[in-house]
Amino acid sequence: MLGLYVHIPFCSAICNYCNFNRGLYDGDLKTRYLGALLTEIGRKADGSPADTIFFGGGTPSLLEPSEVGQIVEACRTSFALAPRAEITLEANPETVTRDRLRAFRQAGINRLSFGVQSFRDEELQRLSRLHSAARAREAFAMARDAGFENISLDLMMWLPQQSVEQWFASVDALIALGPEHASLYLLEIYPNAPLKDAMARSRWSLAPDDDAAEMYLGAMSRLDDAGYGQYEISNVSRPGLESRHNLKYWTDGEWLGFGCGAHATRRGVREKNVASTEDYISAVLAGRPLETERRVLSKQEQFEEAVFTGLRLSEGVRVDAIESRYGIDLWARYGDDLRPFVDQRLLIYDGAFVRLTRDGMLLANEVMSIFIGPPVR
Ligand code: SF4
Repeated sequence: MLGLYVHIPFCSAICNYCNFNRGLYDGDLKTRYLGALLTEIGRKADGSPADTIFFGGGTPSLLEPSEVGQIVEACRTSFALAPRAEITLEANPETVTRDRLRAFRQAGINRLSFGVQSFRDEELQRLSRLHSAARAREAFAMARDAGFENISLDLMMWLPQQSVEQWFASVDALIALGPEHASLYLLEIYPNAPLKDAMARSRWSLAPDDDAAEMYLGAMSRLDDAGYGQYEISNVSRPGLESRHNLKYWTDGEWLGFGCGAHATRRGVREKNVASTEDYISAVLAGRPLETERRVLSKQEQFEEAVFTGLRLSEGVRVDAIESRYGIDLWARYGDDLRPFVDQRLLIYDGAFVRLTRDGMLLANEVMSIFIGPPVR
């Protein structure tokens, strides 16, 4: 089944580390953008079965619940949306109220993903986030009150001035709330990020690399102890509550993307919509193609992607699935190169799956580089 991704590129303020496709909220622009989104969804309607919708951004929770409802309805009428489809809204804690959350639920949202990032106010301030730790806890409680039974929280580790213990304090605070799902990301500071200047000005530093490894491994073992199952390098969940939408990206699945900068992958073709919000709206209004990139993926690219994304998963890559889809016996072809990783306990091959160990996940790129190799025939 297809996944449907809807991009909402508006934020109340721009965080100093953010490298996503987003801009400042503007009511008029938002109204025009929504009109364009509904047109694009209608244009791509083909009645195919779909079982997930994911509102990502930006800050999708800045939309009115009625606007979210219109988009969900458009997806429902344009595609054969499964009755128990997973419909996720990314939300920033400062944007929600009890009433708005109730209305989002009525609009069809059944999963929330809160961008919490940290439960320590000084860290949130260094990241120029608009919420406090107390507001994040309050938003979570309001979401529970509104009836949300599937909530994910995002945290970021290796923040400026963050010690290992301070990071664990945030992880423990997350566990105390008891969300169904959590994503833990390493902060990446891109070259022109305003955060880089702020760090230089304020003499903030990052903990050493070894501490980053300890942060990752320590957080995962705390989450293990609390009953969460790690299913992907950065993601854990309660049993059966993995993100069905994101799993499509990691299991060689297919998805459509709506909105500026949204990607789609279907039948071996990768497409990307024009990134600028204004250009996207004009292209929709003029009936021009929205895709600035359209590439038929070569067999080699499809194979590499299936292996790279599969290795991100805790269960690893199914050797027989790769063989039947790409005609490659993974171990026969790459076993000699992979064996040193097995000897170092970074990789496991059990005859059915090739998977990274948790230590191996820290060195995933090195292992993955083995597969960038001779073309698939
Ligand atoms: S809220 Fe998210 S998308 Fe918006 S600026 Fe901050 S990090 Fe970027």
